[in-house]
Amino acid sequence: MLTVATTTEVTPSVRRIVLSGTPEAVAAAGPTISLLVPRVGDPAPRWPTVQRDGRIVWPQGSHGVSLRSYTARRQDPGRGEVEIDFVLHGDGPAAAWAGAAAPGAAVAVAGGGPLGERPAGWLLLAGDETALPAISRILAEAAPSTRGVALVEVADAAEEQPLPAPDGVAVRWLHRDGSPPGEETLLADAVAALDRPDGEDLFAWVAAESAAVRAVRADLRGRWGLGRAQHHAIGYWRRGRAMSPAG
Ligand SMILES: Cc1cc2nc3c(=O)[nH]c(=O)nc-3n(C[C@H](O)[C@H](O)[C@H](O)COP(=O)(O)OP(=O)(O)OC[C@H]3O[C@@H](n4cnc5c(N)ncnc54)[C@H](O)[C@@H]3O)c2cc1C
Repeated sequence: MLTVATTTEVTPSVRRIVLSGTPEAVAAAGPTISLLVPRVGDPAPRWPTVQRDGRIVWPQGSHGVSLRSYTARRQDPGRGEVEIDFVLHGDGPAAAWAGAAAPGAAVAVAGGGPLGERPAGWLLLAGDETALPAISRILAEAAPSTRGVALVEVADAAEEQPLPAPDGVAVRWLHRDGSPPGEETLLADAVAALDRPDGEDLFAWVAAESAAVRAVRADLRGRWGLGRAQHHAIGYWRRGRAMSPAG
């Protein structure tokens, strides 16, 4: 179990929540997190149990808890803190929970996983605001000599965040400028306009709405000829569909 310590509005649509817990709970919460989110206003959510092998055993019937994936933007087991940036996209149990969360509110972690990145001489990072916490973590951990491009799709200039990167990595913000998220081809178009760097140790990391990721993945596998070990491209959400049934 983790407890909300603080909440901060980072941009109009991103709320940063610092969660506190035991060093063990914080160490298990990331870099990607399987988060168990209670229904807003539910006085007594019935939490599932998590077995040693990571399998989640759900209570019978309605339990008021939903499983969603998030990213630990920062994780500090020593201080007992994990920081998550939630996109307040307006719908869904996790966005609603984050929008309503106040200090003391409880949430649970069912496990953590890797981000899927690997160090490389030349990195392509492409994602939307849901991928920004992962992109910021990957850039912060990249060797100073890393070169490449980070493409980040957001609603508009007000959604840009400071994104420290190695000098050789160009950060480019792509603005939807009024189009709803998940309906634009901005990321795929930006990748399509990039030439494959020659003779480099390449790695591409891509996460955004599923259809956008499919288009970018096809380009990277086809035109760039990237093999499985050279890219990680995952749909982080699906337009018009919940990630799993609400509890
Ligand atoms: C490994 C991983 C890491 C992730 N890390 C983060 C993170 O750090 N921060 C973060 O905010 N998200 C992150 N996501 C994305 C997040 O899990 C999804 O956005 C999820 O759908 C949110 O759950 P929900 O309960 O709010 O909405 P759901 O119940 O899943 O969906 C309800 C409705 O909202 C729509 N929807 C979902 N997400 C969005 C969106 N971003 N914009 C517009 N509409 C949307 C769906 O299409 C659906 O119609 C991550 C996903 C994965 C797989």
